[in-house]
Amino acid sequence: MKRKLLEEMNFHPVLEAYEGVAQPCEGIKTARETFATSEAADVKTTDFDGSRAADVIGDRSVADIRADFPIFAAGDPENPARKTIWLDNASTTQKPRSVIDREANFYARENSNVKRGAYRLASNADKLYEDARSSVARFIGAKPQNLIFTRGATEGINLAAQATLRPLIKRGDEIIVTILEHHANIVPYQMIAAEKGAILRVAPVRSDGQIDLAKYKKLFSPRAKFAAIAHISNALGTILPIAEMAEIARLCGAKVLIDAAQSISHIPIDVRKIGADILVFSGHKVYAPFGIGALWANDETLELAKPYHGGGNMIADVTFTKTLYQKAPNKFEAGTPNIAGAIALAAALEYIGVIGMKNIARYESDLTRFAISELSKIDGLRIIGNASDRAGAISFVMERFSIEEIAGFLNERDICLRAGHHCAQPILRFFGLEATLRASLGLYNTVSEIEALASALRDLAKN
Ligand code: PMP
Repeated sequence: MKRKLLEEMNFHPVLEAYEGVAQPCEGIKTARETFATSEAADVKTTDFDGSRAADVIGDRSVADIRADFPIFAAGDPENPARKTIWLDNASTTQKPRSVIDREANFYARENSNVKRGAYRLASNADKLYEDARSSVARFIGAKPQNLIFTRGATEGINLAAQATLRPLIKRGDEIIVTILEHHANIVPYQMIAAEKGAILRVAPVRSDGQIDLAKYKKLFSPRAKFAAIAHISNALGTILPIAEMAEIARLCGAKVLIDAAQSISHIPIDVRKIGADILVFSGHKVYAPFGIGALWANDETLELAKPYHGGGNMIADVTFTKTLYQKAPNKFEAGTPNIAGAIALAAALEYIGVIGMKNIARYESDLTRFAISELSKIDGLRIIGNASDRAGAISFVMERFSIEEIAGFLNERDICLRAGHHCAQPILRFFGLEATLRASLGLYNTVSEIEALASALRDLAKN
């Protein structure tokens, strides 16, 4: 049945995922069976019973935190009396006042290009931009010279694919992805695989939507050159065991990329503990503006990487016979960057850093458990994916109702959540689906918002 589904996906290399590999690489044969635990495991959940008193993150009430986000007070653009319930955080997050103001303030008082001026505004912009790089790097336990600003996770993955994977990969080599990946963490590799005659191998999941590490290990042979892994599945909310998976891949000598688009706002991340080579994320999913994101890579990866875009700012010297490049990070930041965006991204990370990533993770984990228990009680509602290690992206379908009908009904009650394939068609098709509804939580969501969602769905189910 699964095989048939996969055949229909017209995505032949996927089939290899279920065959296993005859010749594991040496490193894996001798690997420890117990791997380092990931950072997420440090965060213990509390005994959360859904009571209103639990709407607290660290030492702040969620009501207080919500007051930092102007959109919640503003209400619907056409009818301010209607208050939005924002449960589409996996798609994008709302922005706190401090982030909005930080970006506006740059344009109002500090606007200048970087890396080219000899006047005060320019050197100030340089400083602000490089300070932002340091802050963003610090947030993930990295050094600033290893942090490249991008437009977002998609651009970061394409950069890694072109700068690191493309020069590395040859005919017959293998790229290992998982069936849980967002299209952004599949298609760039597929393009390179097609060009180079390489093979994309796909790690399957168990029926709960979690990676089976034993099967994952079997995918690796000395031909594996690159492994791409989502930290959290945007479609199911599964938290993947990235430290363990990265160790398996690295023992085979494969480069490892972590797509942290869905984890950056939910789980403390320390690149020193993950053991990956590259990590990417988008600003807009972590309370920062659109059009800014970051790629981190370790020294060795940056040293070997070829420039992706050519242009100003990334060169040391240009003649018509030869161009010398700057070192990273400039080497990978051709052209004028999103200066205001980078500064605002640093402001967003500072904002959540003060609240505390462990506090946020604990609160969201509790709220997720509450949401799952409420939704599970609804007649005919089926949650897709029930891995024990999971975050607050909750996919579901309902008997008798199409995805569009459910989304339309919720829209009438000002409840915003995503309906569709979530740019993750392979994993939805694994579950025999083309689309789901997805409620995804952020730090400002409350127990009563979850109750409103559950109550709306109960009403719908009665129809
Ligand atoms: N990876 C994952 C897991 C995502 O959820 C997304 C966005 N939905 C992306 C990558 C791409 O992010 P962006 O569109 O911001 O580049």
